[in-house]
Amino acid sequence: DERIDTDAAVRQTDSDAAIARFSAVQKQYLYDPFIKHFLPRGAQHQSARPPLINIGTYVRSQAIDYLVNQWITFSAQEGKKCQIVSLGAGSDTRFWRLATGPRKETLAKYIEIDFAENTTKKAMAIRKSRDLSAALGKPEDVTLVSGGTGLSSPVYHLLAADLRSSPTSSLAPLLQAKDAISLPLLDPSLPTLLLFECVLVYMTPAQSSGLIQWFVDYFSQSGSHTTLGGIVYEMFGLSDPFGKVMLANLKTRHVELPGAEPYPTFESLRNRFLQHGFEESNATTLRDYRRSGIESSERQRISQLELLDEMEELELVLAHYAITWGWKSFGDGEQKSRWS
Ligand code: SAM
Repeated sequence: DERIDTDAAVRQTDSDAAIARFSAVQKQYLYDPFIKHFLPRGAQHQSARPPLINIGTYVRSQAIDYLVNQWITFSAQEGKKCQIVSLGAGSDTRFWRLATGPRKETLAKYIEIDFAENTTKKAMAIRKSRDLSAALGKPEDVTLVSGGTGLSSPVYHLLAADLRSSPTSSLAPLLQAKDAISLPLLDPSLPTLLLFECVLVYMTPAQSSGLIQWFVDYFSQSGSHTTLGGIVYEMFGLSDPFGKVMLANLKTRHVELPGAEPYPTFESLRNRFLQHGFEESNATTLRDYRRSGIESSERQRISQLELLDEMEELELVLAHYAITWGWKSFGDGEQKSRWS
């Protein structure tokens, strides 16, 4: 079955992401003591990724960390704890980095969603590692759910779903499931940040906008005064000559990108959010973030880690990746501050 093979290739992109992150950690671009627990078997001994990939992984990670931190600050200024929902989370370690960091008290809930095959593996990795489990709370509060495809704990939740399915039938029952005191898993009264890191490209535009719209409707119907934020990391501009080369590379790995047609331009990226009535949305390329978003002392440190002789190629590649973010507020009452 062709569709099954295509889905397997899409799920497999997570191993590539984990290996790239591990490589950037090994080469000291990033600090992340958790990623090693999520590597596919044998990957610790693989050789490091090329400098260009390490730098790209570093810049992406820094830019998203920056926005997530700003979101936590924004929520705190609103006097609330925040929720984060990571869609297509794969082996991402952000929850553990936040939960062991200085701002863990400001995190009410962290929800991760991916295909069942990937969430099952992640749940097992969490169970196996004392470092990972320790961040979830007391052992008796951590349970495998849905036949081992999911995991539930006071703050962290791992859910299996196909994000291409209609959200009303797939996500809604999971996110609206009531706990012992009858509160839904996704609390509609808290500032909530949606993370789409390298995932929307595997869906059609109709599927991804249906997904974002479901969240908009959920918060708007609750009547609570709160804010919904979103961050999207994706490739764009794939119809220009260099973009075509990047696309051809992906095709050789049997990764199909239904979301990339027609390929977004930089100008169209903000529509991801603006088309759903978000009040504000902005985008930056990784090239621009590398040039102006990273402190000079840090840029200096990074430039000394590895020898990079293809500076021009680095800039071309980074110019085809963007981070887009936006927010929308709901209900009456004044929003005291703004996010970025
Ligand atoms: N967000 C993580 C990161 O940036 O490290 C993982 C990115 S990986 C390139 C893409 C992830 O999205 C994979 O784990 C894949 O299984 C997941 N994904 C893609 N399409 C999906 C779908 N329709 N439903 C659920 N997960 C999906």
